[in-house]
Amino acid sequence: MTARLLKTACQQLEDFRRAGVTHLPQVELLKMPTTGVAEQFTSEKLPPVAEPPAEEKPNEIQPVSSSPETTKDVVENWEPSMEDLQPVLSLEEKQEQLAQVDCAVKGCEKCGNLASTRTQTVFGVGDPNARILFIGEAPGADEDRQGEPFVGRAGQLLTKIIEACQLKREDVYICNILKCRPPGNRNPTQDEADNCRAFLDQQIQIVNPEYIVCWGSVAAKNLLDSKLPIGRMRGKFLEYDGAKVLCTYHPSYLLRNPPAKKDVWEDMKFLFRDMGIELSS
Ligand code: SF4
Repeated sequence: MTARLLKTACQQLEDFRRAGVTHLPQVELLKMPTTGVAEQFTSEKLPPVAEPPAEEKPNEIQPVSSSPETTKDVVENWEPSMEDLQPVLSLEEKQEQLAQVDCAVKGCEKCGNLASTRTQTVFGVGDPNARILFIGEAPGADEDRQGEPFVGRAGQLLTKIIEACQLKREDVYICNILKCRPPGNRNPTQDEADNCRAFLDQQIQIVNPEYIVCWGSVAAKNLLDSKLPIGRMRGKFLEYDGAKVLCTYHPSYLLRNPPAKKDVWEDMKFLFRDMGIELSS
């Protein structure tokens, strides 16, 4: 539902309430016909349907298979849900919806300790139509001061990585697991990550990226609910909400361990090759 429709619906309900209406009859949702649904998807954006292999281990995340079935098989075997049938938002609608979520974040005090110590919330920046969405863990001191993710030393390295990939920061969408700085730059607690999860999921649903890059283990483990070390999550595509997810090392780790830069560069080449772009070595 677009923001405009949502506002209209809310206004209508308010009018009913003022007129003294306290209950509305429940309407049973009709099952949507499959005719025409397949045309809304390209081959890159098909919903995941792969069955887990028999030897799958608990807590083991399965990579996205490159060609498990033909497109025809996938579409014919797929039952659409209402979520799958979300309309494609225009740039203006995405900007409006992101602004609404940002507004909610600014007023959020779910994590009392973070809300009382933050200078400001740090929502996200970049192109709402980006093909790639970057996720880090949480704002640091520089981000807390400037209100923008990835602007400190690690952020400057991230900008260099983006530019080495022939892009600008404005070409991707950048956000964090947490929107408020944990004091002393400690890792987010599970409760804090859980509190903030709805905001992150809303950003992902609005931007609707083809690819998500998790920078560092905190982002990767939280997004994918995994306990695997980051080293075992690299080098393959995982899946979240219809997007291919690539996990790699956090730029702050690269500042402490420069030899790992070549691993991140391999990850970037892997990502861009899948996007149809060959990065030079
Ligand atoms: S970290 Fe997220 S959930 Fe916690 S107070 Fe900040 S905005 Fe709210």
